[in-house]
Amino acid sequence: MIFLSRELTRRVRINFNDMQLYSTNNSNNVVDLRTAVLKSLPEDKGLFMPKKIRGLDPRFIKNIGAYSFEEIAFHVSANLIGEYIPAAELYSIVSKAINFPAPVKRITGNISTLELFHGPSLAFKDFGARFMAELMSYFTRKGEEKITILVATSGDTGGAVAAGFYDTPGIEVIILYPSGRVSALQEKQLTTLGKNISAVEVAGSFDDCQALVKSAFLDPELNKKYNLSSANSINIARLIPQSFYYFEAYKQLEDKTSVSFCVPSGNFGNLTAGLFVKKMGLPIKHLIAATNKNDVVPRYLESGHYTPVESYTTISNAMDVGAPSNFSRILELYQKDWKAITKDIIGYSFSDEQTRACMLRVHRDHNYICDPHGAVGFLASEEYLKKYPNGHVVFLETAHPAKFLDVVEACLETKLTVPPRLAALADKTKKADKLSSAFSEFKSFLLSR
Ligand SMILES: *Cc1c(COP(=O)(O)O)cnc(C)c1O
Repeated sequence: MIFLSRELTRRVRINFNDMQLYSTNNSNNVVDLRTAVLKSLPEDKGLFMPKKIRGLDPRFIKNIGAYSFEEIAFHVSANLIGEYIPAAELYSIVSKAINFPAPVKRITGNISTLELFHGPSLAFKDFGARFMAELMSYFTRKGEEKITILVATSGDTGGAVAAGFYDTPGIEVIILYPSGRVSALQEKQLTTLGKNISAVEVAGSFDDCQALVKSAFLDPELNKKYNLSSANSINIARLIPQSFYYFEAYKQLEDKTSVSFCVPSGNFGNLTAGLFVKKMGLPIKHLIAATNKNDVVPRYLESGHYTPVESYTTISNAMDVGAPSNFSRILELYQKDWKAITKDIIGYSFSDEQTRACMLRVHRDHNYICDPHGAVGFLASEEYLKKYPNGHVVFLETAHPAKFLDVVEACLETKLTVPPRLAALADKTKKADKLSSAFSEFKSFLLSR
């Protein structure tokens, strides 16, 4: 049974109206949440942005300690979505999607970590993928539409989407991944589930996979046969649940003064969600953008010039992005005002050598094992505290270190304990269709299914 307090339901009914979203390329192109989620992208190739991000009732933030994670998630999502989804339905969506914890652990006097890897695929992307799966099946439950999600992955997205959408009625998922370029465990996460999840192993790069997906979206014949959608962070459904855990982290902090969040970033979806949270009124001093050598955003913050480039390969590979897709959402939030952006976001970037040295040092001095992405976050937190010594930084630990077993074990010269969920995959049988990177081949594959 779902318990909904009187106060929660009433507030939703009285104060909120429906969420509307507009395209970053045309503010007159306004759609409802259902359209934004099922279509993923506006036709004008912009990104969907919420028309309004309301401030939360300050009493909610003041009393945050009284709410469970599930209640926080409900309250925050209702604040964004309004009464477009009835409160009881929204509560059920949220409680099915967010059914694992996000604990904060203190590492030094003023650096803590928010562990976001306790979901099924052991990466923070579980929050987005699971919420999106629940939302999509709510929107399609009348069974009129069958949705086909195409997703290109360089590793973590595919695993989270596969687990999140597994066995969801009315939704079929096709994951494209570059042959030989994802880790062994990541490949198993994509290729062993079966049912409504299929994997295509592409002889090519991640960019080739992404190009195939893009061409499919533009192909009239395929659009006639399928209702195509995307599960990458261009879809607004992924950003909504990524706002929940900032509140959950804040709740757990003993000292709530001068709190900043440090976000290891690639496509900047996670950091954009943090900016939504700041707009909703959570007292966050700064959002710290932590990157590896792929530093277009830190360079923008430094210079005011945004120059996307080809990405470099690093050991924190989920952040190997040269042209972050959510950057246009950040510009939109601040009306392209660079000065205002640099007031809220501080950026730092680090090399692989620095990242390895950090993993080693944090393990030795603080008995904590960071994954390579988290280590970049730890480094940025330290750098930030040199400038703002009175602050308290919470960095987001975006994946479990065992997902990057080879890199972490070689660096620490220690064997990691692999969570049973991940270890069990080793014995499962891989099933994937092998294709070249030619679109014609992918198209006939889709048409003949
Ligand atoms: C996807 C991912 C990131 C980057 O997140 P963005 O929202 O794209 O910035 C960071 N770390 C890990 C482990 C990831 O899987």
